[in-house]
Amino acid sequence: MRRKLAAGNWKMNGLGDALVELRTLADAPAPNETDILICPPATLLSRAADAVRHSAVALGGQDCHANGSGAHTGEISAEMLRDAGASAVILGHSERREDHDEHDEDVRAKARAAWAAGLTAIVCMGESLAQREADNTLDIIGGQLAGSIPDNATGENLVVAYEPIWAIGTGRVPTIAQIGEVHDFIRARLERRFGPGVGRSVRLLYGGSVKPENASEIFSVPNVDGALVGGASLKSADFRAIIDALS
Ligand code: PEP
Repeated sequence: MRRKLAAGNWKMNGLGDALVELRTLADAPAPNETDILICPPATLLSRAADAVRHSAVALGGQDCHANGSGAHTGEISAEMLRDAGASAVILGHSERREDHDEHDEDVRAKARAAWAAGLTAIVCMGESLAQREADNTLDIIGGQLAGSIPDNATGENLVVAYEPIWAIGTGRVPTIAQIGEVHDFIRARLERRFGPGVGRSVRLLYGGSVKPENASEIFSVPNVDGALVGGASLKSADFRAIIDALS
């Protein structure tokens, strides 16, 4: 049985006072069957680690460099994230792919670095609106899956997040049928590549305008094991409502 996962991506949001939200989340009783992960900006990770100590809330980074160390000014390695308290890292988010020209091979190299540091890689993928309208969604996802995920994936070291670009931060959400189709496709591809055991154990998250109001319906879709949540993860009450919808 795959455990549920509610993951929050704070993106470039949050100064020290945002830790109040994290403490509120960490202090509330947590559902047994759901893992909770918050990915704050790197500047908050160490303080966030103190805020969630002895709670069910785990922490993640939002990106890492493909190298372990060296002359890469401004970059953060997977090992540094781990050292600061992270157990996971988001990779290949569409905002990274777009703003930093990241391609599948970059994401794959970063996933290898994450694994070497003992982090779970949350590998993101998703189609643009033009690609969906041209009926290319499954081709795009198939290519990103094949290109972004290294060999040796397991149910522990990999989570896949399906995030249609046109649904991120827009309030637009695919239909339940569309979400189901892509998640079933990802599951089948993972089983084909890594074998049924691993393929069935990797958790699949939906991401894109998940809110307390639509979470239950999205979570009713087979093969949706949780969500990667942006905006609605910034307020602990909203994120808690999404966690409750999952449990
Ligand atoms: C995201 O950026 O990963 C995301 C899903 O954002 P939002 O929930 O705000 O659409």
